[in-house]
Amino acid sequence: MNNKPLIAITGASSGIGAATARVFSEAGYPVLLMARRVELLEALGLPNSVCAKVDVLEKAALARAIQNAEQTYGPVDCLINNAGVMMNGTAKDQATEQWDTMIDVNLKGLLYGIKAVLPGMVKRCRGTIINVSSIAGRKTFHAHSVYSGTKFGTHAISESIREEVASSNVRVITVAPGMVETELVSHTTQDDAREGWYDYAKKIGGALSPKDIAESMLFVYRAPQNVCIREIVICPTRQEP
Ligand code: NDP
Repeated sequence: MNNKPLIAITGASSGIGAATARVFSEAGYPVLLMARRVELLEALGLPNSVCAKVDVLEKAALARAIQNAEQTYGPVDCLINNAGVMMNGTAKDQATEQWDTMIDVNLKGLLYGIKAVLPGMVKRCRGTIINVSSIAGRKTFHAHSVYSGTKFGTHAISESIREEVASSNVRVITVAPGMVETELVSHTTQDDAREGWYDYAKKIGGALSPKDIAESMLFVYRAPQNVCIREIVICPTRQEP
């Protein structure tokens, strides 16, 4: 009988989200996996999992997926707000549609996830929200202006909400990775910005693996509820900026 609480993960179909799903599942937690490509969620083949086709911009569908999984596994004890998009480019050249997508997914999607679980966590006086930000949420990088803006925003939102719910014993944690080998950079259409990422990763002997980030998330979650590791910035050792 599995009596560990439910972990909900957005953007679980690839990269960091998929690795996080595996790591929490291997540690014995039931997992709610959400993304648009539901077939990739199902292909993970994890036990005690619910796979839900969810676009994080559809807030009602997101909330419904959480409620459905809670009927089987009980309340979400940890939400990993991981879904995100990075489209690098210089402001002069980048299409405004790409700005809209990053602002929508990285900020509004994150907020909708928080809204779906926070009232229940506050009521239960227990729970953890891990918001996946980026080193680009701590410092700026060339051709990252809007992405960086969404990730600075993620840090600000996380810290502000953390203060709001601290007295209810709810943890809000920001995990900010540096370069990680995933599909993320492939969505960048500006060639020099995309190739620059790959070239630098090669130069430093490779980016981190998604599992490195997933294990950090399990570590912060597994700390006792009275211990809040507010923020982790985790990069390849050889990454200079
Ligand atoms: P991937 O591109 O591999 O994964 C992104 C995930 O987000 C996918 O599962 C995708 O699922 C999901 N997603 C995107 N848009 C939506 C949407 N509208 N609704 C639901 N899900 C969506 O990249 P990573 O694993 O690298 O990215 C995960 C997080 O890590 C992001 O927040 C990113 O900003 C952050 N990060 C990554 C770094 C890196 O170097 N890789 C560095 C710093 C931070 P689907 O398309 O199936 O919907």
